[in-house]
Amino acid sequence: MTVVTRFAPSPTGFLHIGGGRTALFNWLYAKRHGGKMLLRIEDTDRERSTEAAIAAILDGLTWLGLDWDGDVVYQFSRAARHREVAETLLAQGRAYYCYATQQELEEMRETARKEGRPLRYDGRWRDRDPSEAPKDVKPVIRLKAPAEGETVVEDEVQGRVVWQNKDLDDLVLLRSDGTPTYMLAVVVDDHDMGVTHVIRGDDHLTNAARQTQIYQAMGWDVPKMAHIPLIHGPDGAKLSKRHGALGVEAYRSMGYLPEALRNYLVRLGWSHGDQEIFSTQEMIDAFDLESIGRSPARFDFAKLENLNGYYMRQADDERLVNALEDLLPELGGDEHHLGRKFTPALRDKLIAAMPGLKERAKTLVELLDSAYYLYAQRPLRLDEKAAGLLADGRARLAGITEKLQTVSDWNAQSVEAVIREHAEAIGAKLGQVAQPLRAALTGRATSPGLFDVMAVLGKDETLLRLQDQLKDAPAA
Ligand code: GLU
Repeated sequence: MTVVTRFAPSPTGFLHIGGGRTALFNWLYAKRHGGKMLLRIEDTDRERSTEAAIAAILDGLTWLGLDWDGDVVYQFSRAARHREVAETLLAQGRAYYCYATQQELEEMRETARKEGRPLRYDGRWRDRDPSEAPKDVKPVIRLKAPAEGETVVEDEVQGRVVWQNKDLDDLVLLRSDGTPTYMLAVVVDDHDMGVTHVIRGDDHLTNAARQTQIYQAMGWDVPKMAHIPLIHGPDGAKLSKRHGALGVEAYRSMGYLPEALRNYLVRLGWSHGDQEIFSTQEMIDAFDLESIGRSPARFDFAKLENLNGYYMRQADDERLVNALEDLLPELGGDEHHLGRKFTPALRDKLIAAMPGLKERAKTLVELLDSAYYLYAQRPLRLDEKAAGLLADGRARLAGITEKLQTVSDWNAQSVEAVIREHAEAIGAKLGQVAQPLRAALTGRATSPGLFDVMAVLGKDETLLRLQDQLKDAPAA
């Protein structure tokens, strides 16, 4: 049997982080077994589905590196087929027309509320003769679900889950306007698309029971099901925006690399011993449904940041510069007059400085910020820490500009010699001079090695930046 999984998002919003994880699990499972992952956009809710959301979902998956097999299936385009199946069930006596009016349903709801139980349709049209049908009510089609016995889902993650059929009412398959319900559409599509494994959030577990009843009524094989616990915030509460329940594109603009997010997501609810770092191939080789936990995973920004730092350090320097460039419009490129592309000269400088820069940054946003000294316009704007360091150490820099002016062969070694001499001459430690100097030259409290920074800036720019910051320096 070829494994066929599917990712079936509703395009009513962006691809959120939980959806990204569901897609990843489906993708990995298919890859692991040499199968296929299909993509179905569940756009039957015409009011809430938007083109923008569809585009964001496709973009988000592509950015995460998750591809799908074949064409995207749009559920709405299959409405006629859904209707056909509802009618087949009707013809076979497995479904029936229900003429209950809104008012009757409202009464049932009210009674249920009073008795403190969920609404359960009472089956009043189940065995009633259609000749009794009121003329002015357009019927819905309901499944004639088994009234007794059990419906069982052998879930790959949740284990055996049992529902008493008396607790499951006759669900609507086709609305009175002829449109299919979600429950019907999903079953028909999964069946027709040859889906063998349904891997999705455990908020769909009860739907799995109802869908099982539809499969059984049609005499179709029920696919294997795996319902994964939802993602919670670090405090154990359901994931909210504050916790990181954001669209995948938000992680992109916060400066995360797709491979880092993918690695983070695979560990959200799934484990393989205590391994934390997985290459794509390692994930594929190790992924299974048995090792998905039964309790909700907790979202942890710090862990994601650490992983991202790791992947940035591993990344090729030029690739990081390209990633920064791609993000320029979102990273305050305008504020720094960077425009939409780096100039060739700045690109070269960034690539040259990257080995030092990427050691420290946790996100691309931080990386660009730490490279500020390479693209800053004079006079530099010092951040708070740098301003503090310079205020504190300004006096120790007095006279240093003049000494640097005498350097004829400007490179990391020659400037280092001058600065060491200067520190010695004023009886200071090297760091006591280097820190305020770094602040003045880079606008930041940390940077790659100071002497390398000075070499990259060149003599003229170094001296001009020093003059800008030391204009009012009191004499030492
Ligand atoms: N469209 C549903 C959702 O976005 C998923 C349906 C399914 O996976 O069966 O929640």
